[in-house]
Amino acid sequence: MKNRSANQPAVISTVAELRWAVRAAKASGGSVGLVPTMGALHAGHLSLVSQSKRDCDFTVVTIFVNPMQFGPGEDYDRYPRDLQKDQELLAPHKVDLVFAPSREEMYRPGHATHVEVDQVADRWEGAIRPGHFRGVATVVLKLFNAAEPDRAYFGQKDYQQSVVIRRMTTDLDLPIEIGVCPIVRDADGLALSSRNAYLSTDERNRGLSLSRSLRAAEGLVASGTRDTKSIEAAMRKILSAAPVEMEYAAVVDPDTLLPVDRVERAAVALAAARVGGTRLIDNTILR
Ligand code: AMP
Repeated sequence: MKNRSANQPAVISTVAELRWAVRAAKASGGSVGLVPTMGALHAGHLSLVSQSKRDCDFTVVTIFVNPMQFGPGEDYDRYPRDLQKDQELLAPHKVDLVFAPSREEMYRPGHATHVEVDQVADRWEGAIRPGHFRGVATVVLKLFNAAEPDRAYFGQKDYQQSVVIRRMTTDLDLPIEIGVCPIVRDADGLALSSRNAYLSTDERNRGLSLSRSLRAAEGLVASGTRDTKSIEAAMRKILSAAPVEMEYAAVVDPDTLLPVDRVERAAVALAAARVGGTRLIDNTILR
């Protein structure tokens, strides 16, 4: 266990220590909640931690910038990393354990096994970031196996990721309940993301067009528009006026993520765009 000051959560870095600690907690009858993150924590991550603390007796936060989910040319090297600050942010939440493994601890030499989730992982983020969800599913399954949680918490912010994780959990008969927590936003509407740290003031202002486009979609549905072409057109207009480089703006089925023609039951509006060198994603559930 690494040095820590008072109130800061214990940080461990090996799978063996994690297993031991979780099994000890379970032996005394406690339920275990897992919150997987890549660190550079913000209030969005902390909302998952709070939910786990409400539901479970023992909460484990994992901090691992997973190389397998980054494509070539993506921001793996410059992704923000500050374990000390993350520990300080977690201290008031009184989490039981932080698991912050090295790359070598997670992927031993010769690592050759991957988890592929088909269909729900194919479109949107999956199409733009080939191999991304393979990396996500592989690391999340490894974390599930190491921590053996009763519940695991993910954010709606990465809507497609939550669908991919649910699919994997169902398909592989994992005895884990998946919780999906609402998107936490800044006061101006921008969804919190560790990547927002990359944005200049101008880029941030333009990036606000994502949440504005989603509010417009909600407004149209609230006023009776059902046809998704009109909703998507309104979203695209806002994104191109910003301007941001739109990657997709789509209204999809909440479970299959396939495009829908009309918003009859719940649907999800997804938006992704590049602003300068930064990719931003956001979404909203249309009811
Ligand atoms: P990351 O560190 O970006 O991999 O995110 C870790 C978890 O936090 C994922 O389940 C994300 O969906 C979730 N998360 C990230 N940003 C937010 C946010 N603004 N609101 C709610 N959850 C979030």
